[in-house]
Amino acid sequence: MVRENEVRAAERTVAAPRAADAGLVFIGRIHTPWTSRMETPRQGRHDGPTCRIEVFEPWVEALDHVADFERIEVLYWLHQSRRDLVMQSPANDGTARGTFSLRSPARPNPIGTSIARLIRIEGPNVFVRGLDCLDGTPLLDLKPDRTLFTPIAPPQAGDFQTGDP
Ligand code: SAM
Repeated sequence: MVRENEVRAAERTVAAPRAADAGLVFIGRIHTPWTSRMETPRQGRHDGPTCRIEVFEPWVEALDHVADFERIEVLYWLHQSRRDLVMQSPANDGTARGTFSLRSPARPNPIGTSIARLIRIEGPNVFVRGLDCLDGTPLLDLKPDRTLFTPIAPPQAGDFQTGDP
């Protein structure tokens, strides 16, 4: 069940420390059709609506060669999330589980990630399908989908091998 900011039965909050360990820079803004968390998909779909990622200056030049990739990983800041829940009740059924066992937007550092399908790039605007965030969500980073890369280094002694426990 999608949440706003309520604390449900069986959930537990903590007094979260002041959020100052890392300084992030919002490098853009994501434009989507969704203005309410209740309507926003829980995970994006590659056949979902085209969304526009607006990249701010001075980062537009960093889009060079992004169009070489068919899928990009989008990292964003789920800015309306509460950040103090340690136990959550996704179904709101009186049971709860730990925040780190969930992809819920409510987390100490509310970073969302999606692998999106690249449609096109026009100047500072990157058009993609596959997002699940509210209109106006701040953009943290863009990276090529990691599965499009093969490791450069050959396997080394001590690396995990298939069949290892
Ligand atoms: N795909 C990302 C992930 O797995 O890291 C996010 C998944 S999260 C379950 C997606 C949900 O977060 C949406 O259905 C919506 O309820 C909520 N959401 C989307 N944008 C948000 C925002 N800017 N602030 C707070 N909650 C947001």
